[in-house]
Amino acid sequence: AISISSLNKWYGSFQVLKNIDLRIEPGERIVICGPSGSGKSTLIRCVNRLEEHQSGSISVNGIVLNDSLKNLDAIRRDVGMVFQHFNLFPHLTVKENCALPQILSRGTKRRDAEELAMHFLTKVRIPEQADKYPGQLSGGQQQRVAIARALCMTPKIMLFDEPTSALDPEMVKEVLDTMVALAEDGMTMIVVTHEMGFARKVADRVVFMEAGEIVEIGNPDAFFAGAKSQRTRKFLGDIM
Ligand code: ATP
Ligand code: MG
Repeated sequence: AISISSLNKWYGSFQVLKNIDLRIEPGERIVICGPSGSGKSTLIRCVNRLEEHQSGSISVNGIVLNDSLKNLDAIRRDVGMVFQHFNLFPHLTVKENCALPQILSRGTKRRDAEELAMHFLTKVRIPEQADKYPGQLSGGQQQRVAIARALCMTPKIMLFDEPTSALDPEMVKEVLDTMVALAEDGMTMIVVTHEMGFARKVADRVVFMEAGEIVEIGNPDAFFAGAKSQRTRKFLGDIM
């Protein structure tokens, strides 16, 4: 489980996260939406300490995220992340992109690392692209490589930050389908996205953030049928 309580974060004097409380159970799928600048990326980046928070607490599977490098290592072992821009290594093939992190951070033997790479590339349905370079792939294919690469580290939790928002419309579906399959496999997921069809299909709970706060949280049916807050309704009206 991920447990976030009374979380506050500032950039200088600007408070970007305000008193966030959120608990995510194993196997749960959370979708986070909200206007640009509301703190969605900052919140999920705090979970694996790509950003540091100043007060409140975050724990992942019982391990508290603090200055201990041992704790941070343990948490990062459990948490995979996929970004809007795929952040693949351009000079490595698809297979090497998936294998190298295992070799470098775990000391996995190359043969085993490549075998797992092929397993997950098959899972995201692009095994035939294994020997190409990222620049030779479509955006949707590159994002699926990024997902496979994250899965190669055998995370228990996956964080996604607008994984489809840099893609051409015709490539969005193939990436969302991959994520739906991952959800069906029982992965714990926090997904920042404005793909409300995905939210409806997959999310156990939808979180709406604005100005650093969680304004509303609920199961998708309740959330879409009758958001309680005016701000949430306006946001949904604008994007749907
Ligand atoms: P978007 O939908 O555009 O991705 P977001 O909800 O993910 O937005 P964040 O990226 O978390 O929003 O940013 C929240 C606020 O914090 C914004 O006002 C942003 O300008 C500010 N911010 C983000 N990163 C930094 C930083 N490194 N230094 C200072 N301010 C920052
Ligand atoms: Mg963002």
